[in-house]
Amino acid sequence: MQKQKIAIFGSTGSIGTQALEILNQKPELFDVGVLSANNNYEKLAAQANQFRPDVITLGNKNHKSEFERLLAYKPGNILYGNEILEHVAAEEDYDLLLNSLVGFAGFMSTFLALKRDKKVALANKESLVVGGEILTKLPAFHDNKLIPVDSEHSAMLQCLVGENRETIKKIIITASGGPFRDFSREEMEQITVEDALNHPNWEMGAKITIDSSTMMNKGLEIIEAMWFFGLPIDHIQPIIHPQSIIHSIIEFSDGSSKAQLGPPDMKVPILYALTYPERVNCPNETLDYTSSMNLELKPVDFEKFPCLQLAIESAKLGGFAPAVLNAANEVAVDRFLEKEIRYIDIPKIIESSLRNITSNKELTPEALQDIDRETRKFANLVLR
Ligand code: MN
Repeated sequence: MQKQKIAIFGSTGSIGTQALEILNQKPELFDVGVLSANNNYEKLAAQANQFRPDVITLGNKNHKSEFERLLAYKPGNILYGNEILEHVAAEEDYDLLLNSLVGFAGFMSTFLALKRDKKVALANKESLVVGGEILTKLPAFHDNKLIPVDSEHSAMLQCLVGENRETIKKIIITASGGPFRDFSREEMEQITVEDALNHPNWEMGAKITIDSSTMMNKGLEIIEAMWFFGLPIDHIQPIIHPQSIIHSIIEFSDGSSKAQLGPPDMKVPILYALTYPERVNCPNETLDYTSSMNLELKPVDFEKFPCLQLAIESAKLGGFAPAVLNAANEVAVDRFLEKEIRYIDIPKIIESSLRNITSNKELTPEALQDIDRETRKFANLVLR
């Protein structure tokens, strides 16, 4: 494998941190060219001192002087503000961008990197959710330069190696079901921020942990899979798999199914995305097939997860609807974390936004930014 220069957006988050552990294990394969974080300047400085990237960006300008005091070397370029990421994605030197930004904020970076034909390892699922129609038209997408990091989509990609994509009959996307999968409706009404932040299998940031508990995360992933693999939304079926060991299943037209398995550890899909289409040695944790293992699969109770239903509905509506869904969800999750609304109000805000906000503009990156802004304004006022 040729050595690759990696840019990481969101380097101090959960995915970014685990990615750097992998890059540290494989110095013969990777150089770190760019590190970007939003707020955690102390961790960013420690990462930079270890990996010595030429370009560093920090979103929060207020930490400029403390940050620079912590740096033990002189990088080529230190940039401030979140707007600067667009410049970095579009202009700076790297071979592969690992986009692990959270939310709509990640879309433009994916777009600009693909537009200049760079590889993008995509941990920002919102990029395809809001802009799938735009991204999948780019030549780089058809050249397999957009590579999934999400464990489910990585599983799908791994199951599809050597297969003709026209023989896919169905994608079965697994979901842990989150901490509330066995809750009654009455119990759902009492859920607190602390309850929702406590995910049984995966260690993740706050936004995605809440999304997992409402199953909005699975809804976003279904839309993401639809664009990644070019399938109609009703060919992608979520199922509950509480152990998070089967990461997804592909059913083919001859009746055969393939699944990809592994411990719930993001390092495997991160590494696969960085080295795709190759597979490289790495001492990641493996499953223990010498002891008994329980792999449970059960149907999703859609009634219990209105966010999942809304996500599927938005994909069927198409156009700007998934962008409205996503923006409203980001606002609703923030407001829940701020304890302004109840847990069960999250889908109400999303539904109200979907019913009220549309656009007949042409679907462009600028129009997406407009609808995102408009939806946030609206979603902030619902239930006030
Ligand atoms: Mn996932």
